Amino acid sequence: MSPVRPEVMVIGAGVLGLTTGVTLAEAGLRVRVRTQCRPEHTTSAAAGAIWDPLYANHPLVPQWSTRSYDVFRDLVDAGRPEVKLVPGVEASRRRIPSPGWAHDLPGFRECAAAELPDDFSSGWRYTAPIIDMPPYLDYLERRLVAAGGTVEIGYVRSLDEGSVPVVVNCTGVGARELVPDPAVDPIRGQLVAVRNPGVREFFAEHTEELEEMTYLLPQGDVLLLGGNADKGQSDPEPDPEVAARIIARCAGIVPAIAAACVLGHRTGIRPQRPEIRLEHVPLGGRHVVHNYGHSGAGVSLSWGCADSVLEIVRALV
Ligand SMILES: Cc1cc2nc3c(=O)[nH]c(=O)nc-3n(C[C@H](O)[C@H](O)[C@H](O)COP(=O)(O)OP(=O)(O)OC[C@H]3O[C@@H](n4cnc5c(N)ncnc54)[C@H](O)[C@@H]3O)c2cc1C
Repeated sequence: MSPVRPEVMVIGAGVLGLTTGVTLAEAGLRVRVRTQCRPEHTTSAAAGAIWDPLYANHPLVPQWSTRSYDVFRDLVDAGRPEVKLVPGVEASRRRIPSPGWAHDLPGFRECAAAELPDDFSSGWRYTAPIIDMPPYLDYLERRLVAAGGTVEIGYVRSLDEGSVPVVVNCTGVGARELVPDPAVDPIRGQLVAVRNPGVREFFAEHTEELEEMTYLLPQGDVLLLGGNADKGQSDPEPDPEVAARIIARCAGIVPAIAAACVLGHRTGIRPQRPEIRLEHVPLGGRHVVHNYGHSGAGVSLSWGCADSVLEIVRALV
């Protein structure tokens, strides 16, 4: 008789919940993902999403982002259509040195002033993964099910609920109520999708003042334009004035965007936290492993964080 595989419940089916679920299930654990919303209705589905470790804080961000970059590159090599390696420019309006993490990326080099748009003073080129999130989340869910995992819809009121010995909390901004954790702040982000007027490279503004930043992320025939960060705002309705400002800023980089056909709007609530929370907490005779608070970099860190959760869970079971 084969031994019974230990059971783990993952709460949340955004990019953190599904990636963690896949990692645990493929390591041989029985995984049940429980989620209030289907993956396509999560913040993760709204993300751009470019690999960029800038917008989250934890001492292990370099390790987690490097591991995630490697997995995304392997997915590209395996022919997954949801992930692309795209060259482009990250630039700042201030005169600043390029960040150390960019130096080891494929295609890295500093830009000459003539290569930068007006109003930008420094910039650097590299190649980064860009992920088409709605089909990518669908791919993760199918990979989870293929590894024996399940996804069920249900709201979890308390981490004390149920009898599964190990619970992994990947609830993003939901952790504010569930844990409860007042350090999690909802930060609303908005993107505009337009018909791509021929942009093949990404452009990403490097800024720590997140209220309004400019980025262009090509996804084949669609070009995603960003972005903004509204602190404390969790209304899912797109704001037409924010959308108009995003289009105007992006048209300042690529003028053809001003006349591009608008295909749609996306909003999502980033789980902002001063530091990502990834740790084990005993709960009676059971265990909770927290994995939330990834702010604006949850996609970029997803595979590395999932590996850290697996390490903790293996030690527990
Ligand atoms: C406009 C925008 C652009 C972005 N661009 C990028 C980018 O380019 N690169 C990048 O790396 N990141 C980007 N991000 C950030 C990234 O989207 C987030 O960090 C990431 O999606 C967080 O994932 P998550 O799985 O933790 O949370 P979510 O995707 O919010 O998932 C949380 C899950 O938990 C469930 N849940 C919550 N509470 C409960 C409960 N009590 N019971 C049951 N289920 C519950 C929800 O239903 C959901 O399934 C962007 C975000 C936005 C909004």
